[in-house]
Amino acid sequence: MVMLALATATYTYVVKIVVDKATALEQGQSALEAAKGYGLAILPILIGIPLISGLSNYGQRILANSIALNSVADMQKQMLAASHNTDYASFSREPTGNRISKFVHDVGVISHALIRVISNLVRDLLTVIFTIIAMLWQNWMLSLAMVIFALAIWPIIAISQRMRGSAKDVQEHVGVITSELKESFDGTRMIKTYGLEARENERLGKSFDERIRLFLKLVTDQARVDPILEVLGGLVIAAIVIFGVYQVSSGLATPGSIGAVLTGIMILSPKLRALGTLNNVIQEGLSSLTRIFDVIDEKPSITDAARAVPLEDIQGHVKLDNVRFLYEDGTEALKGVSLEAKPGELIALVGESGGGKSTIINLLPRLYDVSAGSVTIDDVDIRKTTLESLRKNIALVSQDVTLFNDTVAANIGFGDLTASREDIENAARAAAAHDFITALPDGFDTVIGEDGDTLSGGQKQRIAIARAILRDAPILLLDEATSALDAESEAKVQQALERLSNGRTLIVIAHRLATVQKADRIYVLQEGQVVETGTHKSLARKRGGIYARLKDLQMG
Ligand code: ADP
Repeated sequence: MVMLALATATYTYVVKIVVDKATALEQGQSALEAAKGYGLAILPILIGIPLISGLSNYGQRILANSIALNSVADMQKQMLAASHNTDYASFSREPTGNRISKFVHDVGVISHALIRVISNLVRDLLTVIFTIIAMLWQNWMLSLAMVIFALAIWPIIAISQRMRGSAKDVQEHVGVITSELKESFDGTRMIKTYGLEARENERLGKSFDERIRLFLKLVTDQARVDPILEVLGGLVIAAIVIFGVYQVSSGLATPGSIGAVLTGIMILSPKLRALGTLNNVIQEGLSSLTRIFDVIDEKPSITDAARAVPLEDIQGHVKLDNVRFLYEDGTEALKGVSLEAKPGELIALVGESGGGKSTIINLLPRLYDVSAGSVTIDDVDIRKTTLESLRKNIALVSQDVTLFNDTVAANIGFGDLTASREDIENAARAAAAHDFITALPDGFDTVIGEDGDTLSGGQKQRIAIARAILRDAPILLLDEATSALDAESEAKVQQALERLSNGRTLIVIAHRLATVQKADRIYVLQEGQVVETGTHKSLARKRGGIYARLKDLQMG
């Protein structure tokens, strides 16, 4: 950067020599005479300066970009770690698309701002300083015309203050658009079958138009800086021409020194303009930085307690004691629930939707912490155990199976990252999934599409069960699929589940007759309370009972 700035400033000197020599030629000096003295030095300088300038420019750009890219990658890694570390609840507070836009858009804004800061603050500022020194050295009186530029300082400050707000609006809107796009593409199936394409296009179209409005506001502010400097630049040049002509005619200066000062102004103008708009870029960068630090600085409230102990060699005795739970929005999902699953028991949670069944399932791996009461495993309050050991002891099979766009083997392997290929295949066998997996084009190495779109519902479930089998946890949480699987898949899924539950404590949100009939105990939940407890037989017999009515409704 220093070399580049020096090389650029030297141009004023080159112009001075060229103009003075040309003037001498015109006044009748011979070419040979004109070339004497430092006249000949002009050639190496003419070739040398661009060479130095070009090479330093090349190095400086790569350096500035790699500094910016490295900083940004660091931020992305920190944001990702913080996102995975934060509370589950934080994801329901913020639309996923907004979070994604921070990783993609805001990080880009910062990278751009960093490159500008490095280039402008160091390189351009040096160029400005060196050029001004060169100008003063060659014709200090004329160079004083530069002070006119100082008039630009106040309007530029006023403009950047206005811009701070516009930049924030633009960035927040990018988050909105990303969320809307994500939502829209995630819902492609529904949008197509309900013929909602036109509505979606219109809805998102409005967002894109809004972007134009917000962006134009920002650009309008930004665009004001250039003309101000342009007009002032014109004034500076006019002043130089007038005083320059006077100086030359009265023999105070050579034409070359006027050429040098004008060249200096040409060099200064774009640099000053860049410095003038730098504040805008910094404002934009700072506002993106705030959004990024919101993610990085988010402290999870669900963490290991000060003297947390690991849960080891547990029996799987799960107990909820008078548990109350309120969601952040104040919804009281559980109002004093007590229930128990002894080691190896099968417990079924049933009841109308909204009763609190999923909430109970979410409390066990501490996706949320209870608002009052306690959850214990083998009589240890789960808030006193380490999160890692707690979650290691729990396997979850939910009805919306989460599959990643990876191979079948990898998807099962998430159950236990240390598992061998053989373990994975055995787990698939136990989950009655081995046959259909080996029939896939690349067997276990078949890449299943995003969310496993290439598999049937029953197949996805069996992969999820294989994953849980591989995890080999003593406590198993199961959210039974409500959607009807075909009879054969259903039988296979049941068979797989039976193997899985062998010797484990199983807590199931039950929808199937087969499951509730086998349950050691059924808890009927309604509006956040356990309203009935018992076996299928005892509850079904109870006249006027809620379970009896549910059973008649759902199972005939
Ligand atoms: P179920 O699984 O029995 O259908 P849930 O446990 O999902 O019931 O829900 C219990 C209550 O909590 C419902 O009133 C539901 O609207 C509410 N609820 C569930 N999830 C949230 C959430 N993330 N934020 C606020 N309220 C929620």
